[in-house]
Amino acid sequence: MSKTLVMKFGGTSVGSVDALKNAIQIIRNAKKDWERVVVVTSAMSGVTNLLIDSAASASQGKVDSLSATESSLREKHFAAADALVKDEAQREAVKAEIDALILSLVDLCKAIAILGEASPRAMDTVASLGERMSVRLLAAVVHDAGIPAQAIESTEFVVTNAHFQNAHPDFNVTTEKTRGKLNPLMDKGIVPITTGFIGATSEGAITTLGRGGSDYSAAIIGAVLPADEVWICTDVDGVMTTDPRIVKEAQTLPEISYNEIAELAYYGAKVLHPKTIRPVLDAGIGLRICNTFNPSHPGTRLIPSVKSNGKVEGKVIKAVTAIRKQRLITIEGRGMLGVPGVAARAFGAVASTGTSVPLITQASSEQSICFAVPSELASTVLSSLEKSFAREIEDEDIDRVWATEDVSIITVVGAGMRHTPGVSGRVFSKLGNDGVNVLAIAQGSSEVSISLVVEADDTENAVKALHELIVAS
Ligand code: ADP
Ligand code: ASP
Ligand code: MG
Repeated sequence: MSKTLVMKFGGTSVGSVDALKNAIQIIRNAKKDWERVVVVTSAMSGVTNLLIDSAASASQGKVDSLSATESSLREKHFAAADALVKDEAQREAVKAEIDALILSLVDLCKAIAILGEASPRAMDTVASLGERMSVRLLAAVVHDAGIPAQAIESTEFVVTNAHFQNAHPDFNVTTEKTRGKLNPLMDKGIVPITTGFIGATSEGAITTLGRGGSDYSAAIIGAVLPADEVWICTDVDGVMTTDPRIVKEAQTLPEISYNEIAELAYYGAKVLHPKTIRPVLDAGIGLRICNTFNPSHPGTRLIPSVKSNGKVEGKVIKAVTAIRKQRLITIEGRGMLGVPGVAARAFGAVASTGTSVPLITQASSEQSICFAVPSELASTVLSSLEKSFAREIEDEDIDRVWATEDVSIITVVGAGMRHTPGVSGRVFSKLGNDGVNVLAIAQGSSEVSISLVVEADDTENAVKALHELIVAS
């Protein structure tokens, strides 16, 4: 029998009575094959958005929709408890615990409204409530189904820095605490059911790991226990050739290498949080992405990356992905060649705003540097650049620093691209033939991806066009 499995259920996978029934069955089956099972859960679908919206409205003094939010949270969680927890005492107990969390949301939002602002720390306390509710619900329904299970909040063992909304775990402390908390439960045959997405600082302040971070939680827990495998149970059959919401003919990839999935996740494939890969890779743990709603489908398995001189099986381009709502920022000027360290200063100015840059291109002939930033941060980044280069702008060494309208970054991924000449030629002729104008290009340094920037309105066409290339190859 295999040893330790960490399985993570996403928001849709715990988002309804039917989904929860599937999750229970998957956990029951896993218990047959694995000595030890840990379950990580997201908030029920839609809940984290609702919580964040409530806090954001409260920070503008708006609390009128709070009672509707309260009822909708109650309704969602209670309907599942009513349907799936037969034992009355247990059912009432879990509902009371969830109700207390809903009331704490109301208190927090009222406090935020009085202060007129929500600090990142307050936002994390609010956002954490979704997982803190779902973990109790899931543990109760699993336990009621006859599988010994216990809810435990990951704030008790995932210890992070105080970088609220994007916290980073301290792996040493987290290792010790996670083993200390989870092993005794598993030794007794109990399935620990824990919260994804959240942790706490060593002082006990609740933090979150970033949106979509439950996948990362599963990887962290898997790496520190250590587990033999981590399964990400979601609402599609695995990692697909593209987002099935854009191209419904998208196909599941039975296997994908670590460096390919890293590029895909980083460049927008929401199916896996990009930070998930590193901990499992470092710890040598198997990773599988599978469908809660189609449990007999094998899903996608992660396989070791092919060495740079190795032969790559299968299609040259494996998948295409898109990140929307980006803007391209350009710094340009004829005198730029004479300005020392322009790039270093430019990225220093960007970094000082806490913005990360997904794509950079430099055209020396035009004496410009161009890079993408998320749209909502573009104006902050522009002001920071204008401040850093005030002198050069005044001296006209730099003519202007400007941002485009919204654009999307489209990325094609495939380890075989490294050894196959002419891939970018095919990519660009296909886009040209389909009438998509390419604004900028960058090749991933790992050589398993090529990214290009297109206008927002061209996003779907670009993805569809490039997906046709995959199908045709
Ligand atoms: P969960 O709540 O289970 O974490 P997410 O919504 O975060 O699920 O991620 C799953 C979704 O990712 C899918 O429903 C799909 O629409 C989207 N997605 C985007 N790109 C891909 C891709 N290449 N393969 C599979 N799913 C993708
Ligand atoms: N519930 C969190 C979010 O919506 C984390 C997750 O689902 O992975 O971002
Ligand atoms: Mg997700």
